[in-house]
Amino acid sequence: MRPLPDMQALFLYGLRENCRAMDLETKAKLLSVGTVQLSGPYAAGQMSTAGPGAGGQSVFFKSGERMVRLSVAANSPLRLEKHPDGALIFWGERLLAKGELAEPLLHCPQQAYITVSERCIYDCKFCAVPKLQGGVKSRQTVCRMVEDAQSTGQLCAISLTSGVETSPQKEAARVAEIVRDLRRFGVPIGVSVSPFPGVNEILKRAGADEVKYNLESADRDLFPRVCPGISFQEIMDALQEAVGIFGQNRVFSNIIVGLGESDRALHHSIDELTEMGVLPVLRAVYPHPLRVGEVEMVRPSEQRLLELACYLKKALVKNDLDGAQALTGCYRCTGCDLVPGRDL
Ligand code: SF4
Repeated sequence: MRPLPDMQALFLYGLRENCRAMDLETKAKLLSVGTVQLSGPYAAGQMSTAGPGAGGQSVFFKSGERMVRLSVAANSPLRLEKHPDGALIFWGERLLAKGELAEPLLHCPQQAYITVSERCIYDCKFCAVPKLQGGVKSRQTVCRMVEDAQSTGQLCAISLTSGVETSPQKEAARVAEIVRDLRRFGVPIGVSVSPFPGVNEILKRAGADEVKYNLESADRDLFPRVCPGISFQEIMDALQEAVGIFGQNRVFSNIIVGLGESDRALHHSIDELTEMGVLPVLRAVYPHPLRVGEVEMVRPSEQRLLELACYLKKALVKNDLDGAQALTGCYRCTGCDLVPGRDL
């Protein structure tokens, strides 16, 4: 006769199953840490070089309706344990969330998210790309990558981003050519490049559906120190124009949280952008080892992330914007941020 199941173990297992889907607060806690250490072996397909920690490894952890991307770091206070039926995230002995690993397609799940030029003539003080000075992908290479992604049957969107190899104008022309080629895949295409007057027409004519021009620092006074040689006003002008060309819920801008800006500056920037029709992406700073000491970089607390996400949500609603409508990029992926319209 088979032994009766251990009812207490079953009860505890059920408790874990039901109670540890990642809620908003838990996602904020995980994002405020930003890293995780892995225990046990992981397949290469479960890892990604995604996100702001260029050059490092990441995992995507999906739990309930939410997903988070965490950089892999041996000294992280968070620990990810893989089990046959899923994955658990612990803080010390405390179980924080139960879920599963989501496999990235190209960089992140379901998207071919490709960095065209992995080098940059600018020197934004939080960014590893100018330090890494990587390669520049040809049209053929990008198309092959997207073909491979499509062959998996999981491709839902294409996002292209690029550093600046020689000039913003040449970079946009290069990316526009690639966008023309990629139309044949029949999925939405989002583009993030360094803006300049006329960039929106070029990208629209090429067939881009969404654009993202990153403000990076919400604080106009801090901006020249964080992004030397770049014009804050030129980015704002391009964003303003983009809303008229690409439409409602199709224009985005990254704002980094943790560069020494005040919450007041962030609120002001959120108000200004949303009133223009732009969806800000509030991104916790990633203190890349190649940039330590160049500028203040402090990972925001769970509380700060939650408060800012709530502020952003209200500002979006007030201006008839909806993060759930995004077709590409980070509002669609949700791995690195608390995303209004998806997480809250
Ligand atoms: S949220 Fe954006 S940056 Fe982060 S992994 Fe997803 S697509 Fe990449």
